[in-house]
Amino acid sequence: MGLFDVHAHLTDRRLAAREAEVLANARAAGVTTIISNGLNPPDNERVLALAARSDLVKPAIGLYPVDAVLTEMEAMGTDYKRDASFDPEEALQYVEDHVDQCVAIGEIGLDHYWVPSELWDLQEQRFRRLVKLAMEADKPIIIHTRKAEQRTFDVLVEMGATRVNWHCYSSKVKLGMRIAAHGHWLSIPANVRKSDNFRRLLEGLPREKVLLETDCPYLGPEKGELNEPANVAVTAGYAAELWNTSADAVQAQLEANFEALFGFAP
Ligand SMILES: [Zn+2]
Repeated sequence: MGLFDVHAHLTDRRLAAREAEVLANARAAGVTTIISNGLNPPDNERVLALAARSDLVKPAIGLYPVDAVLTEMEAMGTDYKRDASFDPEEALQYVEDHVDQCVAIGEIGLDHYWVPSELWDLQEQRFRRLVKLAMEADKPIIIHTRKAEQRTFDVLVEMGATRVNWHCYSSKVKLGMRIAAHGHWLSIPANVRKSDNFRRLLEGLPREKVLLETDCPYLGPEKGELNEPANVAVTAGYAAELWNTSADAVQAQLEANFEALFGFAP
């Protein structure tokens, strides 16, 4: 039992280049489980390979909401930097073919920030297919959404998805509270001290609905600093302050929350 990071990108080349050091730092900080999230087929493949060689890492495989319609975005002439080549249909098939090998489906979701409105329906069709797959396989879902939080929530409620974690939820605190009241979890990143929204969520959410994440290498506690899973310890320390309780009590609560969603102890 220990601390955990439910949303990391250890396969990002900046972290992958320092894999042994990053994992050693996490262990030293008391982290026992890191869920590395996949973005597209080549990344999913790297996530599964990494999980196979490290007991600390558990794989989530998915299709990043922008990647889900990237081929169509490129055909429209949208300027978005692609980091891998794949066909959307093959990307969905990859997740379907490997669902038994992962502990969660993620990251998946809806992104209305980067994706033009003409493609929102198609993006949602592909998202629904992955949600359905997760529900049929009884796997938790890790959600990324940007400027589409309400729509994402409506789809998940309509489809009856209950094992859901919202990564880096950044819309209105009020909707965040409704999401938690509906039974979903929200993971708070390591830059919480600098974000009014994340602080209010960490303070106000039902404690049994809080999880920790880093989204590393992004969203470091300090600007410009490369983030890594060890930084969840910073967030756990801050939760103890905000909740006015001990570090042990925070860790016990978080462990129980993790197990309630993922079905195994962190
Ligand atoms: Zn992510």
